[in-house]
Amino acid sequence: MKLYNSLTHTVEEFVPNEPGKVSMYTCGPTVYHFAHIGNLRSYIMEDVLEKYMRYVGYDVKRVMNITDVGHLTSDGDTGDDKMLKGAKREKKTVMEIAQFYTDAFFADCAKLNIKTPDVVQPATGCIDDFIKVITSLIEKGYAYEAGGNIYFDTSKLSQYYVFGDFREEDLAVGVREGVEADSNKKNKADFVLWFTKSKFDDQELKWDSPWGVGYPGWHIECSCISMKNLGEYLDIHCGGIDNQFPHHTNEIAQSEAYIGHKWCNYWFHVHHLNTTGGKMSKSKGEFLTVSLLESKGYDPLVYRFFCLQSHYRKSLVFSYENLDNAKVAYDKLVARCAQLVSANDTAGVNADDFAKLKALFTNAMDDDVNTSNGITAVYDVLKADTNPATKLALLEDFDKVLSIGIVEKAKKLASEDNQSDVPADILELAQKRAEARKAKNFALADELREQISQMGYAIEETRQGTKITKKV
Ligand SMILES: [Zn+2]
Repeated sequence: MKLYNSLTHTVEEFVPNEPGKVSMYTCGPTVYHFAHIGNLRSYIMEDVLEKYMRYVGYDVKRVMNITDVGHLTSDGDTGDDKMLKGAKREKKTVMEIAQFYTDAFFADCAKLNIKTPDVVQPATGCIDDFIKVITSLIEKGYAYEAGGNIYFDTSKLSQYYVFGDFREEDLAVGVREGVEADSNKKNKADFVLWFTKSKFDDQELKWDSPWGVGYPGWHIECSCISMKNLGEYLDIHCGGIDNQFPHHTNEIAQSEAYIGHKWCNYWFHVHHLNTTGGKMSKSKGEFLTVSLLESKGYDPLVYRFFCLQSHYRKSLVFSYENLDNAKVAYDKLVARCAQLVSANDTAGVNADDFAKLKALFTNAMDDDVNTSNGITAVYDVLKADTNPATKLALLEDFDKVLSIGIVEKAKKLASEDNQSDVPADILELAQKRAEARKAKNFALADELREQISQMGYAIEETRQGTKITKKV
């Protein structure tokens, strides 16, 4: 399998540290607000990577942190504390906010068929581990105390900008946002490992440390949580491209300074989801969440399908028009699958055809997780000259990785097509609605349609008359 590696800027053959095993780390969400669908694009593509690794036989262990402390509004250690901001906004405690948005994040993931990683670790549960690593970094001369905080000294490294494409000026993030630069830093690129003399007087979460009462910086948590659960040799580290710098750059700096050798071999970065107005964010324009898409009538799996139609290393432009196009294509796929299900093919799977068509899918996915070609393989199966049982088996097989749920939905659809009986209570409501329409009481008719909808049925007027279908 070939993977693009952000460290080397090339597509490389993937070779794990231990044959047959893959250790994978993912930067988790900062749980101060809902995830927007741009954040979720990364988690969808990482989910596909993980599932494909399992599909081809690797024994995968995947770990993710939950950032519930230490992340400031600027990734360069300036600005406000995100968790505190969230707590103030909603007049709750930081831990209440953390719990609420952690649950919300996993609820969104479930709707998008994103598997929960094997280990999910909130940062607040690992304070002792952070202190242990920071203590060691100070002993080894890689960290210093200034103004009460502990900083990582980037000048001690032979190479800090490991991903290559950054300049010192990029560090002026905080300055651009009108926040004062931190004068305690010896070098512009240095970053906070532990905040003690906090500028946030009302910081809720604080812990004892050898340097006084305080709390950890954001970057240290990923290094520690990864090494604690996956050891000193990591195969793949994933994240959104935003995190490449400074977050992942800092993770590498502190991890390798601590262990004294190379830490992670492959860096998998998912590119931005943009709106037509530019980069997606929580503060600009419409706050695009899974719930918002649902409220507009989109199945979250249509969004997953939309993401899979393009490569993870390309920026993707979100618009409702683009999502509508994906929806039309998705619904057609489900309908075509439903025909295969209805065929009730008892001939069984043709092994030769299965192998030949499966190769189209694995060739696409082996080529740096090319999901767009993976989706093309789905269409190739539908067009192929083989029996319905083989086609269906292939689509089910591909869906172990793609997880767009088309076969599952098709089965439901096919079983409903065969089932002429709609429950009596639904028919009764439909009858009342017809009478209301006849009497031109459209408010009541709409109300009844809503009631029917809430009971899981859709009602629509067709040329053949009123059609009632169970919602998929
Ligand atoms: Zn991270």
